[in-house]
Amino acid sequence: MSATTIRAPRGTLDLLGPAAAAHERVRARAAALFASAGYEQVETPIFEATELFVRGVGEATDIVEKEMYTFEDGSGRSLTLRPEGTAPVCRAYIEHGMHKRPAPVKLWYWGPFFRYERAQSGRYRQFFQVGAEAFGSADPALDAELIALLVSLAQELDVRGVTLRIASLGTSESRAAYREELRAFLRAHETELAPEVRARIDANPLRAFDAKDARTAAVMARAPLLLDRLSAADAEHFAAVRELLGEAHIAFEIDPRLVRGLDYYTRTVFELSSSELGAQSGVGGGGRYDRLIEQLGGPPTPAIGFAAGIERLLLASSAQPAAAALAPALYIAFGAGEPQGAERTRAFALWQEALAAGIAAQIELCGRSLKRALAHADRLGAPYVAILTGQQLALRDMRAGEQRQCSVRELLAAISGGER
Ligand code: ATP
Ligand code: MG
Repeated sequence: MSATTIRAPRGTLDLLGPAAAAHERVRARAAALFASAGYEQVETPIFEATELFVRGVGEATDIVEKEMYTFEDGSGRSLTLRPEGTAPVCRAYIEHGMHKRPAPVKLWYWGPFFRYERAQSGRYRQFFQVGAEAFGSADPALDAELIALLVSLAQELDVRGVTLRIASLGTSESRAAYREELRAFLRAHETELAPEVRARIDANPLRAFDAKDARTAAVMARAPLLLDRLSAADAEHFAAVRELLGEAHIAFEIDPRLVRGLDYYTRTVFELSSSELGAQSGVGGGGRYDRLIEQLGGPPTPAIGFAAGIERLLLASSAQPAAAALAPALYIAFGAGEPQGAERTRAFALWQEALAAGIAAQIELCGRSLKRALAHADRLGAPYVAILTGQQLALRDMRAGEQRQCSVRELLAAISGGER
């Protein structure tokens, strides 16, 4: 009788060889790109106090309302698996007094994130994001910098069918009057709105622009637009960002209905999507959040950031993933098939010496006959095989088909020399 098998949780992916290598490639490209622009890597914990996301992401958001993996630990604290990266990085910025560093403070991160969502292609419950956050400057050039970095990342990864959309949400002051106007508009059309949009008229009226529901979308096509209500200072900031993007030949569309899912944005918001992705078209996005650090208990600090989804970058990329090359330089086999007497100990010592000398090595571990071990070494692509027979050691050059007795030292020297 066999035990029942246990499957991975819904909405999670096992990253086998080539998929893991593809992820690693994105991470390496991002690391190089961010380093070249002066961004320092930061790794925050996978779980945080639940309160961080309630306050940092916003109560009336999809994430906080229904997507968080929240649990109590052994002492009854409420913790949450991080659903996004900005709030944790802001927490770290405040906690480590980074406002005392010379501004701007520029950070990037990478890792798994968790959202309880309807699992489908491009939408998972554990997914990876790479992101960047920059603190301490309200300069529109920083907005353009973050947008340019997101676009560069997509370009380097050969992401196809890319569209960049941008908008401005103004500051919370200039938004206040508009929110009232929008609330009144939404109330006037209440019966035509999806239930969750109706429920958020008070708490988060702007999210109505994000609704997928067709009737709601038809209403929102006639709604007053925040872009037409920006204060002079906000409009000037937005114009400066557009000009910089134009100078850099970064193509963009202005989307007055782009609001983004998180509560904390101010002024510039942006989203990069790909036509390759179907319904889950968002590759990455972000925006300015000039009030968030204050809301989390830090000093007033303008800031901006973005995050991109690794799985979606890869789904939209034309680059084919390849597994890492694992061919050993040395395969250690036994003349008599199964190791006899002290052969196993000597093989293990040789393996350790080879690794210490920087030679990739593997031992025959499945009791193959010498003939089969040689065939296996060949399949792995090993150029050399060490053959242990009693006290004897021989080195076989697979390409030349030659074999000779030698000492361990001669063997290691021959392989190191051969590789040069
Ligand atoms: P969407 O509109 O697709 O739900 P979002 O606005 O919730 O995206 P953000 O919170 O801005 O996404 O996250 C940034 C990026 O992270 C997205 O553009 C996407 O590439 C990726 N992402 C977000 N949620 C998921 C998920 N559940 N599975 C895979 N990738 C995701
Ligand atoms: Mg979402």
